[in-house]
Amino acid sequence: MKKHNFSAGPCILPQEALQQASQAILNFNNDNLSLIEISHRSQPFIDVMDKARSLVKELLEIPEGYSILFLQGGASLEFLMAPLNLMQNEGKAAYTNTGAWAKKAITEANNIGEVIVVGDSSDKNYNYIPKGYQIPNDVDYFHCTSNNTIYGTQMKEFPSCPTLMVCDMSSDIFSRKINVNNFDLIYAGAQKNMGPAGTTLVILKDEILGKTERKIPTMLDYKTHIKKDSMFNTPPVFPIYVSMLNLQWLKDLGGIETIEKINQEKAKILYAEIDRNPLFTGTANKEDRSNMNICFLLKDASKEELFNQLCDDAGINGIKGHRSVGGYRASIYNAMPIDSVKVLIDIMKKIK
Ligand SMILES: *Cc1c(COP(=O)(O)O)cnc(C)c1O
Repeated sequence: MKKHNFSAGPCILPQEALQQASQAILNFNNDNLSLIEISHRSQPFIDVMDKARSLVKELLEIPEGYSILFLQGGASLEFLMAPLNLMQNEGKAAYTNTGAWAKKAITEANNIGEVIVVGDSSDKNYNYIPKGYQIPNDVDYFHCTSNNTIYGTQMKEFPSCPTLMVCDMSSDIFSRKINVNNFDLIYAGAQKNMGPAGTTLVILKDEILGKTERKIPTMLDYKTHIKKDSMFNTPPVFPIYVSMLNLQWLKDLGGIETIEKINQEKAKILYAEIDRNPLFTGTANKEDRSNMNICFLLKDASKEELFNQLCDDAGINGIKGHRSVGGYRASIYNAMPIDSVKVLIDIMKKIK
């Protein structure tokens, strides 16, 4: 029996996508060649890339004037590429510090220019989303993290921004409606809610580029990849293909509007059990709770062994919390069926 995969990333993917992907490894398009041995310049792969791009555009309703890229290096490389491409020489940028990933983004930006931290939740181990901060208007851009994968907090609203708006959406892209018009640069490592590890989705407004005097190394320059439709060098064909299958699955399901409702329902029933059950407690500030990563503790740590055993027996995988928070983290990305969430809830109800 397939396990209930609550892993925080790499994430669960729809079974249909995995089946089609495994078939494509053996025999792609009934052409008796594998997807991973054909030229990335061949028409069958160009079609995959075009399809992936057009699904991203359609699902997120991306307006004209934006480019959609599939890059490598993970979201972690975007921590560097964003400041390299957007910061002036001796430039400044404003960042929120809402978790370990935000902190890494800040570290990289600090290598390029000056970072002003405008909202910081490190005082409470990142269990809330800072609000009410001012973004100075003399910075080159503002950077935030929409969903903090490790701490289970999520921005429900985005601040109005007097400068370019950059967002790391790695762990909640395609999970809810966003207005792309409000953002200038969005990036997301595929392996949280889009596909397997190995590609990074970048969505950026073309007009923001070319404004820095800095000399940008070729591979780190967004313009390089825009000019070559993400095929400046050999693209990661398999992760892009599987992402495309997953996005096709999402479209067939009804798109973002449908999945957002499903995601809200999954999160609602799990949080309801955490709040109802005296044995458990949620770690994130209620109003900032993530609908993707649900972090909770067993109040009586001596019951952990039993709980872990029951989860194991039920085929539940990947709910151990990140070491910096402890306890448990149930990641309920798009492909996680509500029935799997109910299996977890039943165990929570059962333990005494
Ligand atoms: C996982 C994660 C990252 C890092 O992604 P990589 O693709 O592994 O570099 C960055 N930001 C957030 C919010 C994440 O969840």
